[in-house]
Amino acid sequence: SPIGARVQLADLPLRDDLRGRTPYGAPQLDVPVRLNTNENPYPPPPELVADVAAAAAEVAATLHRYPDRDAIALRTELAAYLASSTGVPVTVANVWAANGSNEILQQLLQAFGGPGRSALGFEPSYSMHPIIAAGTRTDWVPTPRRPDFSLDTDEAARIIVEKAPDLVFITSPNNPTGQAIPLDQLRELIAVTPGVVVIDEAYAEFNEHASTLGLLDEFADKLVVTRTMSKAFAFAGGRLGYLAAAPALVDALQLVRLPYHLSALTQAAALAALRHGEQTLESVAKLVAERHRVVDSLAGMGFQVVPSDANFVLFGRFDDARAAWQSYLDRGVLIRDVGIANHLRVSIGTPDENDAFLAASKEITR
Ligand code: PMP
Repeated sequence: SPIGARVQLADLPLRDDLRGRTPYGAPQLDVPVRLNTNENPYPPPPELVADVAAAAAEVAATLHRYPDRDAIALRTELAAYLASSTGVPVTVANVWAANGSNEILQQLLQAFGGPGRSALGFEPSYSMHPIIAAGTRTDWVPTPRRPDFSLDTDEAARIIVEKAPDLVFITSPNNPTGQAIPLDQLRELIAVTPGVVVIDEAYAEFNEHASTLGLLDEFADKLVVTRTMSKAFAFAGGRLGYLAAAPALVDALQLVRLPYHLSALTQAAALAALRHGEQTLESVAKLVAERHRVVDSLAGMGFQVVPSDANFVLFGRFDDARAAWQSYLDRGVLIRDVGIANHLRVSIGTPDENDAFLAASKEITR
C-alpha cells in the first residue's frame, strides 16, 4: 500500500461541512459505448488535430513565460462566436474564460457567494451547482421542479422573492432532464431576483429556443450566461468554459481567479479549436436529428421520455434504475444513473452507438 495509507480521511482536520460528502464521480469505465457524460461523440477532425498540434508546438517554445493572464485573444474569439451565433453584439469585455464552465461557476460563487450567503437552484439539475456551493461555503437552497421536471415559473418566482438568495442558478436546457425554459419565463425570473442570476447554457447549441444572451443588456447588473466548449465544440478534454456578462461582472471575477489560470497550451488549443468551430458545430444538427430518432424509438418501445432540447435524454420508468443501469453496462453500454428514481439518462452518440443503446433498451426489463 502507498506511503501514508494508515492515515484515514476521518483522521484529517477537514472542514466540518465537508465531512461525509461524496465527490462528483461519473464512472469512467472503458466500455465500447460510452453515453454517460454528454460529450460530443464525434472526435475532432484531422485538420483541427493538426492545427492544435501546430499551435502547441509554437507555444512550447515560450513555456518559460507565463501565459496571457487575461486571455485576450481567446476571449475575443469567444465573443465573436457568441455574437455571430446569437446576434447579440458581445465583445471581449463581456466574456471571461476558465478551465471548464465548472471553474467559471466556482469563480462566480467565490465572488458572489461564500459564508453567510446563499444560492438557489431548481432540482433536479446539474449536480455540481450544490457541490461547488458547498466548496465555497455558500448555503444551497434546493427548490423542486414539477414532478414532470418542468419549472413552474410563478412558483419559482415566489420562492426566489421569499428566499432572496444571493445567487440563482437556472440550467437551460436543464441537465439531467433536458428541457429549456422559454425566454419570456426566464425574463420573469431574472426580473424578481435580487442578486446574481446564472443561466447555465452548457447545452445552448442543441437548443432551438433563443439564448438568454439577448437579455444581457436589459439585466446588465445581474445576469450571467455560462457556456462551455465541452459539448457542442467537442472539446471536453481541452477544459474551456466561458461566460458572457456586463464588464463589471467580469471585473469582479478578477478578484478571485488565480493568476495565469488558463495555461498557454489551453489558450492555444482552444483558439485552434475555435478556428475550426464551423466544422465541429456541424455535428450539432446530426446529434439533434439522432436525438429525435432515439426519443421516437424509446417511446415506440413504451418508455416514458422527458422532452429534451439538449444532447441527452432522460427516460424511464424502471422499477429499479440502478439494476437497469447495470444491465446496460453488461451489454457494453455505459449510460448514467443520475439518482432520479425510476429514470436513467443517455447521451446522444453516433448512429452506431445509438443503435447499440436502442438494441440494449429492447432487452432490458423495466
Ligand atoms: N453545466 C452543466 C449544466 C453541465 O452539464 C456541465 C457538464 N456536465 C457543466 C456545466 C460543466 O462542464 P465543463 O466544466 O466541462 O465546461
